[in-house]
Amino acid sequence: MTAQSERVMEIEMIERKGVERIVAPPEAHWVGDGFKVHGFFPHGPLSARRMSPFFLLDYNAKTEFPPREEPFGVGPHPHRGFETVTIAYKGKVEHHDSHGGGGVIGEGDVQWMTAGSGLLHKEFHEKEYNREGGLFHMVQLWVNLPAKDKMTPPKYQAITSAEMGRVELPGGGEVEIIAGEFGGVKGPATTFTPVSMFNVRPANGTSVELEFPENYTTLVLAIEGSGRINGSDELKTDHLALLARSGERFSIEATDEGSTFLVLSGEPIDEPISAYGPFLMNTQEEIAQAIEDFNSGKFGYLN
Ligand code: MN
Repeated sequence: MTAQSERVMEIEMIERKGVERIVAPPEAHWVGDGFKVHGFFPHGPLSARRMSPFFLLDYNAKTEFPPREEPFGVGPHPHRGFETVTIAYKGKVEHHDSHGGGGVIGEGDVQWMTAGSGLLHKEFHEKEYNREGGLFHMVQLWVNLPAKDKMTPPKYQAITSAEMGRVELPGGGEVEIIAGEFGGVKGPATTFTPVSMFNVRPANGTSVELEFPENYTTLVLAIEGSGRINGSDELKTDHLALLARSGERFSIEATDEGSTFLVLSGEPIDEPISAYGPFLMNTQEEIAQAIEDFNSGKFGYLN
């Protein structure tokens, strides 16, 4: 037996990671007046426990915003106990927080904000882009923090498209690595628990094999175009696939030109979850403390 055929046998013996369910985008709602989002989770079968370490996924599908002088967005609000990750596919957002973090992210960039012990922030469309209007297409993901890191000092990572890890695929297209590792290339984001976040862009008609540990929570969101998982399960634009826990390897095939799939995989945090609005803690007492700290100005100030 050749080394190559041994490797093929080895791959075939590992159970494939199947699709547990495909979820159509839920009806959109507004966050402030700047984000028209499909809230994929947490709710229903995509519960906080099942999705852990991810807690919330808001998806602003491609939307045309009109030109306007007054900025679209959402004003100052608090967060504690988790991280917000904003991925810009189209449009530009501007962020400011009470911990001094801030900046603009545009097409292809990612903002990874660790709220940790708590801050106030505001999220608006960037002024120039707001004035001109245009396409807006973004993902906001909330990543939970383990109990030991919930009160870590706030941190802000602005990751530009140029800083991402990149692996060219043999059949054409690429995998862009925001966090985690693919093909020996690491992404720039630092995470508190193991999280992988890739933009997978196989050339039309080709597929890419991905591998994550069995127990990890693994999701695929079709950002652009459509595709097939494991050669059989169709994934249309703006739809989300939840992969089964069992099995380690699965494939994503592009069935359109310019398909982009956001792949998320993370180790579940096996701890109690107590959530209230913008606070994500382990116990009711910690939620009450967060409200008290917010009301007494401990999250800082922001105009
Ligand atoms: Mn926020």
